[in-house]
Amino acid sequence: MTPDAGSALAGLTGADSVAHWTQRYGHALMDTFGAPQRVLVRGEGPYVWDADGTRYLDLLGGIAVNSLGHAHPTLTAAISAQLGTLGHISNFFASPTQIALAERLLDLAGAPEGSRVFLTNSGTEANEAAFKMARRNTGLDESGNGVRRTRVLALEGGFHGRSMGALALTSKAAYREPFEPLPGGVEFLPFGDADALRAAFADGGGATVAAVVLEPIQGEAGVRPLPPGYLALARELTAAHGALLVLDEVQTGMGRTGTWLAHQHPHLGGGIVPDVVTLAKGLGGGFPVGAVVAYGERAATLLGRGQHGTTFGGNPVASAAALATIGVIDRDGLLAHVTDLGAWWRQQVAALGHPLVAEVRGEGLLIAVELTAPVAADVAARALAAGFVVNPCTPTTLRMAPPYVLTREQAATFTDFLAALPHDLGEATP
Ligand SMILES: *Cc1c(COP(=O)(O)O)cnc(C)c1O
Repeated sequence: MTPDAGSALAGLTGADSVAHWTQRYGHALMDTFGAPQRVLVRGEGPYVWDADGTRYLDLLGGIAVNSLGHAHPTLTAAISAQLGTLGHISNFFASPTQIALAERLLDLAGAPEGSRVFLTNSGTEANEAAFKMARRNTGLDESGNGVRRTRVLALEGGFHGRSMGALALTSKAAYREPFEPLPGGVEFLPFGDADALRAAFADGGGATVAAVVLEPIQGEAGVRPLPPGYLALARELTAAHGALLVLDEVQTGMGRTGTWLAHQHPHLGGGIVPDVVTLAKGLGGGFPVGAVVAYGERAATLLGRGQHGTTFGGNPVASAAALATIGVIDRDGLLAHVTDLGAWWRQQVAALGHPLVAEVRGEGLLIAVELTAPVAADVAARALAAGFVVNPCTPTTLRMAPPYVLTREQAATFTDFLAALPHDLGEATP
């Protein structure tokens, strides 16, 4: 690709190597992510290419973001057309795309009358808004006095983002502790432990709970679904005590698991209606956009005029990107494809009977291959060298969240890679 005169890359040759760019990265970017694995220059469908011209099958999809793959023509056209028509306005004004997106989200969420949407630019921002809603969830006691609900319950292993509020909800100590004090009142309950959840509401404690914040399937923790019945119990307890049930579907939402939202699977959600769902990642197919869906009038009115805001959130381009992404998923029947391909692929990997593979789990195209030894980073590095992008999200877990446009043939190439892994890979590690 030759950059045109207006491009930031004008004057640079396309021959610059991964090594060249990696060195420049190290001198220009903060070292928050560690050294980049590769410097990528182009993508098409489920493939990306690095600056040396090497092609990779992108089975991580930008961490569950590129639902339509890379450079999808419909998405590219929608974004370009919107940018060429009306790119940004302030939230003193509205745009038809923003309004249509909010209506579409309420529709696919099956949200009841009175429900409303707040649009953001990222997952962490969506969770910040949800946290602020929880703070506004103050009740009245029998005498009509305001009751301050100070507690927010989250789960061990949960990940909700890196800004201060979302970070306070995130359990990993290494992420949180360098930034304390964080917004207070958050308690972490053991993952999937129904008794611990009941205990948190017992003995009058329920009146002090503002919200319970859960991922239906924990993503960063290694694709761990909540046990059957847990979400239903959380709904029952929060409803009985006036607390909000907030579902963080930033990773699991927008078709990733084969339904629009993961809690819509009967075996995960059991038909519950949450108070709040947060979305981002796959929502814009690669364009940054997030959303908070507030179910019903009570949740939808917790944040009053002037109590929250955003400059970019809900801008016409991001809204057009999300509408186009949803439209393609609908038009091309991708929810059914995600379900079918995911089930087939998990079965194929499990059927390998490879001694390194302990378990294959997940829903739709959010998949984890659990290994019998802590060699996930080693396997991911070998995969990259063989032309596959996967993510070692724990020492023993490989995570995959590929584009929904992936085919069986493409998926099978990675199954073949796994089959060829040395059987004794785990034995050399201490
Ligand atoms: C990625 C993620 C977030 C944070 O989203 P950002 O867009 O990175 O801020 C929050 N919650 C979950 C479940 C996520 O997977």
